[in-house]
This record gives sequence, C-alpha cells and structure tokens, in this order.
Amino acid sequence: MNKLKQKVLVLNQNYEPLSITIMKRAAVLMLTGRAELVERRSFDLHSVNGVYPAPSVIRLKTYIRVDNRWPPLTRKNILKRDNHTCQYCGAKGGDLTIDHVIPKNRGGRDTWDNLVTACVKCNNRKGNRTPEEAGMKLRRKPFKPYYFMLNLPDIPDSRWEKYLFLKHRV
Ligand SMILES: [Zn+2]
Repeated sequence: MNKLKQKVLVLNQNYEPLSITIMKRAAVLMLTGRAELVERRSFDLHSVNGVYPAPSVIRLKTYIRVDNRWPPLTRKNILKRDNHTCQYCGAKGGDLTIDHVIPKNRGGRDTWDNLVTACVKCNNRKGNRTPEEAGMKLRRKPFKPYYFMLNLPDIPDSRWEKYLFLKHRV
C-alpha cells in the first residue's frame, strides 16, 4: 500500500478528534506549520527537504469550531458503526438486526453502548439474555462514534485509541 495514502487521525487544537486524512495531506499540514506531530508511525517519510517521522496522529495548531460531532442514534448508523458486521459471530451483510446487549426488559437502554449489530441467528440464540448468560462474546466494546468514524471499518492504528475513546463514553 502506498504509504502516503495511509490514514492519519487529525485532532483539533484541544486534542478532540476531528477527522481523518491521508498521510500526504497530513505531511503538508505539518510542513506548513498548521499541524504538529502527536503520534508517529514506525517509519519515516523522505522528501527533497529531508527525512520526517511518518505521522499517525496530528494536532491542528488552530482550534476549528465544530457544530456537529455526533451522528444521531439510528439503526442505519449503528449498522455503519459496526461495518454491517454481526458483533457476536462476525458475519457480514445479509439479514442484520439490532441487539440490545442488556435486554430492554432488564433495564437495557437505547444507547450507543447498549446497541449492537447482530445477525438473525445470533440474535435468536441470545434471546432475552445478557452476553455472559448466553455464553456469547462481543467482538468489541460498543461505543459512541464521531461522525467520521461511521465510515471507518477498523481503527487502522492502535495509537488512535486513546484519543478516540477518551471522553465520549455514553
Ligand atoms: Zn452472528
């Protein structure tokens, strides 16, 4: 894969996640002084002017005002967050349902951290039980996504996690 097309997480001036860009654009933002390196990758970038650490996370030096950080909690957005993948067995596409991790009649709420994508088979198997009771394991902990995370199938670099999941627990 072309290194310059690898994904870079852009943080706002206050360290809040803002967007995702590609390495080429991130390098330009850093070279022009508009952003600084926060987390680097394990390789370097070579340009005519020298050698630079490849960025994984950068931070803008100027605060960008953001009005709309969070997508609405809808079936469509839950499927997008979960990359249309059953969060129990990993089946992708097909007939997908939304499962309450803690069942509704046992106090489970309609929140980002209690709703996951599940295939019909897993949803039926789980029934009115918690994952522990059903002996089923979630592939990852459900989370409240920023808008830009809805189209991100995987977190491409584990260095992003502490910025993405820091402040926005539901
Ligand atoms: Zn399944």
